Amino acid sequence: MFKALVMDQNDEGLASASIKDLTLDDLPDAEVTVAVEYSTVNYKDGLCLSAKGGGLVRKYPHVPGIDFAGIVEASDDDRYKPGDKVVLTGWRVGEAHWGGYGQKARVKADWLVPLPEGLSPQQAMAVGTAGFTSMLSVMALEDHGLKPGNGPVLVTGAAGGVGSVAVAILANLGYEVAGVTGRPESGDYIKSLGATQIVAREELNETVKRPLESETWAGCVDAVGGAMLARVLGQMKYGASVAAVGLAGGAALPATVIPFLLRGVNLLGIDSVMQPYDNRLRAWERIAKDLPMDKLEAMVKPATLSDLPQLGADILQGQVQGRVVVDVNA
Ligand code: NDP
Repeated sequence: MFKALVMDQNDEGLASASIKDLTLDDLPDAEVTVAVEYSTVNYKDGLCLSAKGGGLVRKYPHVPGIDFAGIVEASDDDRYKPGDKVVLTGWRVGEAHWGGYGQKARVKADWLVPLPEGLSPQQAMAVGTAGFTSMLSVMALEDHGLKPGNGPVLVTGAAGGVGSVAVAILANLGYEVAGVTGRPESGDYIKSLGATQIVAREELNETVKRPLESETWAGCVDAVGGAMLARVLGQMKYGASVAAVGLAGGAALPATVIPFLLRGVNLLGIDSVMQPYDNRLRAWERIAKDLPMDKLEAMVKPATLSDLPQLGADILQGQVQGRVVVDVNA
């Protein structure tokens, strides 16, 4: 028997969570069974924990948790053996497939990544999908020419999960970082991660009036989308790139094409879910190397399975600062 947070649907089609005892026979069929140690809470987890499953959960009963890290317990695949430390993000685990909010999980071997040297399961979940995606964003910006010395790099939604990790990585790599936040009380926290400038959300939330503003940012990791992304495009330096990661502020993009045509600005789409294996490995190795662990620890809020329903609601309200690490065995 092991414990898991299970979402069940009522007669009105609304789902709610409870902690249940399950057996290994309850788990889906797949090659690798993992003893989960830690999971986390991303924005998408908030959606999967909500009464309607955010349009992501396919069927109930369902075990959410889009990320987990733990130790292989049994494997029918040559790439993994009992005792291996592994991490999983993406592949619609926790949405279309059962995820990491339980003490055991069973998944396809293709979905796993060996934990890089120097990163514990707990640290891997402090990173999670949010931090992994931040690293993918930094790699994409670098691949498009971003270098320290090009000028300030903007991070939107800077007190959130994606934003916090992006600030810490960029600052550690020697970039000058500006963080946008709607929570003035988070300014000191964002600076403690390495940002030197805080931009108030209101300054960037207004719809585009002039398609080009002064050339300010050498790069941007954008977790917000919507009107803010549209504004930022008009403030990018000539030839600079924006990594579009999230939609915490909206999915619409009320922009003009002028920054692309007159300033050669690049809008780079970042997807963590279907990211190919080689790039996943590269990103996790870069995380182990380029994300300072003391900064990561400063962003972490510990939690247990029973905290998850509230944390899910909080993250959808933009109320979670940094990263949550869920000890599924606590
Ligand atoms: P968080 O809730 O932790 O962070 C989002 C942050 O955005 C908030 O903390 C807040 O930061 C800011 N924000 C929230 N609402 C608004 C608003 N209405 N207008 C402007 N800013 C707002 O979520 P995550 O960091 O986990 O995820 C961020 C986004 O990235 C989500 O949309 C998520 O779905 C997406 N994502 C995409 C991935 C991909 O593969 N492309 C992978 C991971 C996440 P502050 O308080 O500092 O203003």
